[in-house]
Amino acid sequence: MTTLDLPTYDDVAQAARRIAGTANRTPVLTSRTANEEFDAQVFFKCENMQRMGAFKFRGAYNALSKFTLEQRQAGVVAFSSGNHAQAIALAAKLLNMPATIVMPHDAPAAKVAATEGYGGKVVIYDRYKEDREQIGRELAHKHGLTLIPPYDHPDVIAGQGTAAKELFEETGPLDAFFVCLGGGGLLAGSALSTRALSPRCRLYGVEPESGNDGQQSFRSGAIVHIETPKTIADGAQTQHLGQYTFPIIRRDVDDIQTVSDDELVQCIRFFAERMKIVVEPTGCLGFAAARRMKDKLKGKRVGILVSGGNIDLARLSGFLAR
Ligand SMILES: *Cc1c(COP(=O)(O)O)cnc(C)c1O
Repeated sequence: MTTLDLPTYDDVAQAARRIAGTANRTPVLTSRTANEEFDAQVFFKCENMQRMGAFKFRGAYNALSKFTLEQRQAGVVAFSSGNHAQAIALAAKLLNMPATIVMPHDAPAAKVAATEGYGGKVVIYDRYKEDREQIGRELAHKHGLTLIPPYDHPDVIAGQGTAAKELFEETGPLDAFFVCLGGGGLLAGSALSTRALSPRCRLYGVEPESGNDGQQSFRSGAIVHIETPKTIADGAQTQHLGQYTFPIIRRDVDDIQTVSDDELVQCIRFFAERMKIVVEPTGCLGFAAARRMKDKLKGKRVGILVSGGNIDLARLSGFLAR
């Protein structure tokens, strides 16, 4: 295997300069109720308050900012039914370049509309009959578009790392830090910032119980592939870690934890009721794992990355009414 050029903290610092003034510097919230529950100091980095509602804007904007003039003129292509689609569409609009987003035929109408609302051109494919990666690659080849994947790309990882960088700049070093894990762009980027700014902090990635490919990969030392997991955490329904994200996670993360869908619902309710914020199921992974481990966190300074808040209101009200 050829060795890949992995991104470093220096790339995160450069990404922070590129996104400054365009991405929101999101708030770090605290809650007395959470501090009392944990008997610790808990800091929530609120990426649900990022532009388009999730941290993915950071990686998308960083990646697109680095395009050459030629790449800008042809535009970007991405495949996603979730937050990456909206992030790419918005970043492309702000940088005046065309964006094509490949989405499954059964993607929620609201997500298609949001992506089109940012000026993205949506190409629909049949989830059961067609291969989206192949469609993306064909479009890229035919029209000279640059494909930006949702997590396995050095510029995406570096961009995602800027959220943790901002957190540590605000709180100083922490004892433990919990980060949501899908394909690992957010966790790998957070790991670069953690090792640079709070080297002794225990860093945990958190996955849904039903999709623990990251945990299996981390513990076995090779990327494990699984079927698309069934979970309410739709942002973490990934089947495997990436070639760039895995080696960084293996090197810099302390462990990967898992939580159940029920625990995620408890956290959605906590965020709404106690902190007055809307968090999507995937955005609750970090907090749910910290709650499970709270006996070990007594007296500590704990960071939680709240990754996003995109959930439609009907679905949210279902979780709140339970
Ligand atoms: C994409 C996403 C994740 C997972 O991020 P990865 O970089 O794929 O690990 C977590 N939370 C939300 C809200 C997301 O949109």
